[in-house]
Amino acid sequence: MKIAVASGKGGTGKTLVATNLFNVIQKSGFAVDLIDCDAEEPNALQFIQADLLTQKSVTQNIPVIDKDACTFCGKCQEYCHYNAIVVLPELQHIQVVEDLCHDCGACEYACQAGAISWKTKKTGTILTYAVNHGSSLIEGRIEIGVYSSVPLIKEALRISPQHQLAILDAPPGTSCPFIATVGSADFVILVTEPTPFGLNDLMLSVEILQQLDKPFGIIINRAGLGDHRVYDFIAENKLLLLGEIPFDPRIAKSYSEGKLITDSMPNYQKHFSQLFSRIKKHLQYDRNSYT
Ligand code: SF4
Ligand code: SF4
Repeated sequence: MKIAVASGKGGTGKTLVATNLFNVIQKSGFAVDLIDCDAEEPNALQFIQADLLTQKSVTQNIPVIDKDACTFCGKCQEYCHYNAIVVLPELQHIQVVEDLCHDCGACEYACQAGAISWKTKKTGTILTYAVNHGSSLIEGRIEIGVYSSVPLIKEALRISPQHQLAILDAPPGTSCPFIATVGSADFVILVTEPTPFGLNDLMLSVEILQQLDKPFGIIINRAGLGDHRVYDFIAENKLLLLGEIPFDPRIAKSYSEGKLITDSMPNYQKHFSQLFSRIKKHLQYDRNSYT
């Protein structure tokens, strides 16, 4: 079972939920993976005691055009669905826009002149850490200047140790990296806050998850702050409210010190264990697997 923890915007408490959920599950003695898919700004490691096990570079292929062999026919440009090749026959010019290339290989297939070869480009690193009780933390880190973290996220998900349970800390927003993460999940926890910004981003996330037909539930972080519109939206649309985390300066202090609230504030251990039970119940998951 893969549970993704996501939010429509950064700073809503997504990592707070992902790391504390991971903490209570792994401390119960069950082996679980925490996969930090926020490859542009991974920070789960700041909260988890872990030892580095492996480090793997992720690369992608980029076409290289032999301008002496190229006839400037434009076929590769025509086949490239990502607009990553520009051909200007009248100027005898051809150029690969590396940031747009998705390594699909269509341009080589299209080229009858044999003018395309390949080079590799490093796009990121995947680090695997050992945590207590056989659990793991997997972290994707994108290279500076690389346009899309999607291939890196997919690779991190592919090479994770495949314990029975994985928690995916999704990237903020609702664009391709978010979809690459939640697309592989069995259940999504959406973390929001009771503010107009929180409501706006929650509405966008809900719309996408409904289109993807993904089961999901909502956690309201900083409950007590803001207004009631998020609650009204949840009630009107008959969405699953999994729980609330109160607006409490002690939580912010604990987070800023790199401490998990399930360690520093013991009442939250029960809170997060109950959250996990609620998700299992919702999915009608076989309880014998985890108890
Ligand atoms: S590999 Fe695919 S995306 Fe990249 S330039 Fe060729 S056709 Fe375009
Ligand atoms: S398909 Fe081959 S020959 Fe035609 S423009 Fe592209 S690289 Fe050049």
